[in-house]
Amino acid sequence: MSTTERKKHIAILGSTGSIGTQALEVIEEQHESFVVEVLTAGSNADLLIEQALKFKPNTVVIGDQSKFEIVRDCLWEHGIKTFAGEKALEQVVEMAEIDIVLTALVGFAGLRPTLAAINAGKHIALANKETLVVAGEIVTSLAKEKGVNIYPVDSEHSAIFQCLVGEWHNPIEKIVLTASGGPFRGRTKLDLSAVTKAQALKHPNWSMGAKITIDSASLMNKGLEVIEAKWLFGLKNEQIEVIVHPQSIIHSLVQFKDGSMKAQMGLPDMKLPIQYALGFPKRMENNFPRFNFHDYPQLNFELADLRTFRNLQFAFDALEKGGNSPCVLNAANEVAVALFLDDKISFLGMSDLIESVMAQVKHIAKPTLEDLFWSDTEARRIASTGA
Ligand code: NAD
Ligand code: MG
Repeated sequence: MSTTERKKHIAILGSTGSIGTQALEVIEEQHESFVVEVLTAGSNADLLIEQALKFKPNTVVIGDQSKFEIVRDCLWEHGIKTFAGEKALEQVVEMAEIDIVLTALVGFAGLRPTLAAINAGKHIALANKETLVVAGEIVTSLAKEKGVNIYPVDSEHSAIFQCLVGEWHNPIEKIVLTASGGPFRGRTKLDLSAVTKAQALKHPNWSMGAKITIDSASLMNKGLEVIEAKWLFGLKNEQIEVIVHPQSIIHSLVQFKDGSMKAQMGLPDMKLPIQYALGFPKRMENNFPRFNFHDYPQLNFELADLRTFRNLQFAFDALEKGGNSPCVLNAANEVAVALFLDDKISFLGMSDLIESVMAQVKHIAKPTLEDLFWSDTEARRIASTGA
């Protein structure tokens, strides 16, 4: 970087999670280009304090109010401001110094702070896919109105974004999202009726937070990504396909109107898409491990089994139905995953619960933001009582 170029000032929402901690590794390696302005966490006060002492942000926010004093007492003498609670998460993203907000918190909780950041004119590096699933139309039109860019962090969407650089005016015929298939690829419904939490938490290619790991095992993650892709790239539903690719080397593909397909490849490592989103339009030098053809003599592809992995079918259905359906799908899934992680329902029980909730919440064809908050609450209420 030339010495006259200003460093990008970054806020990380969810700095103690899988994406958040990897983002901090990237920032540490690229300290000449990036500086941490804000760190936030849900409840992991110890790690948040450790990160703050190392990266010296201007401000930190801890979601869990009961941890406020511990965090403040450790950081005030270092001149780091501390706040707590949901409202603070929304306010902190408005700070004038911030250039880009990395949304690395998990679930519906990401929606309000992401909207607040866009309203404040901050560019978004978006890991929190649930925000676009729930309110894709509202979020992307607000971003357009405010002149805010949304840079994808999800590896598949980063791949598509990278394929589209230099092709902005060329029409897309379709995109193909690759899916690893998760730990239960090739299994039958009967097999799935007996799988355990520990098995579901063991992803073959990626190490991630618990919620997305379960979503990957059930293929809901791919379903959420289909909806995320629609809004990120302004696609029609029928332009989005999914293919299972167990090695996770091809991260996704774009097919243009002339039939040519572009794919982006690399080892499965989230640091690359994180670095690309934060550094765009630059490709920055790094020491990440490189792909070696000898380690991958074959790359395989197969169709997704939508009958066994019904969650992916539900996501396609929600996309087709539109309106508040993806929001209901997401809320039902968040409750289902939490219940599964809490040993309250089985792996297949998650799909049954989601199907039942989707059939019960009133459909709203053109939801306002308030309608979406209502739909989320209503779906959670039904899901929690139905378990
Ligand atoms: P994680 O569970 O490891 O981390 C979540 C972070 O958000 C933590 O810092 C946690 O403290 C914070 N958080 C959680 N709930 C919160 C709340 N209610 N209020 C404030 N903070 C809260 O999750 P992750 O795996 O890093 O995933 C983060 C997001 O990125 C998810 O939307 C996920 O789908 C997406 N994503 C993750 C990966 C990955 O490799 N982990 C890849 C692609 C996309
Ligand atoms: Mg992904």
